[in-house]
Amino acid sequence: LAFHGDRSETSFDFKDIKLLPPVIPSKIVCAGLNYYDHAEELKMSVSNEPVIFLKPSSALIGADDPIVYPKNSSRVDYEGELAVVIKKKARNVSRALVSEYILGYTCFNDITARDLQKIDGQWTRAKSFDTFAPIGPWVDTELDPADLSLRTYLNGELKQISRTSNLIFAVGDLVEFISGIMTLFPGDVIATGTPGGIGPMVPGDEVVVEIEGLGKLTNHVVKSI
Ligand code: MG
Repeated sequence: LAFHGDRSETSFDFKDIKLLPPVIPSKIVCAGLNYYDHAEELKMSVSNEPVIFLKPSSALIGADDPIVYPKNSSRVDYEGELAVVIKKKARNVSRALVSEYILGYTCFNDITARDLQKIDGQWTRAKSFDTFAPIGPWVDTELDPADLSLRTYLNGELKQISRTSNLIFAVGDLVEFISGIMTLFPGDVIATGTPGGIGPMVPGDEVVVEIEGLGKLTNHVVKSI
């Protein structure tokens, strides 16, 4: 994977195109319990180090792609999150140098089968179903992530509202911590965690994650066939 600054002079109307996931990561590293109000609603305590887990890249979908409700779950939740996209190979990056390793930011929805998360005691199955990683609509390379509003809407109703300034571990903390564990490759995604207000979705629902300066990531939930 490599990112080039190439630009086409051709332009298209949004109604004539389909947006793909804006990046194909080797891995998606997610921060759990990174807003106090979300840790409270799950009745879990906040650690003094980030809690991280992985989502497979096979779960990725883009804007307007359907989220498929798995047959073996009866509680599937949205989790609106700010995502970081890595620009170049990163290993043991100190906080002060983190910005050199970041390509930009996008919206992410960390879809979770909450019932399976509770049954399993670890999170891999609950977080990893195909279509459980909506990302997009695009990567913004100019944005300052320090204090952006984040909102999640279910069928037009506001369900989550917070600011990235409320993150317990900020973007710099996460990149330093994660790159001290595993090498991050260009295109890898770090999902920074969700604020309070998570809740269930059912087939037919529309979920929108909106981040200030980034736009809206919209997806619909469909039944598994
Ligand atoms: Mg999450």
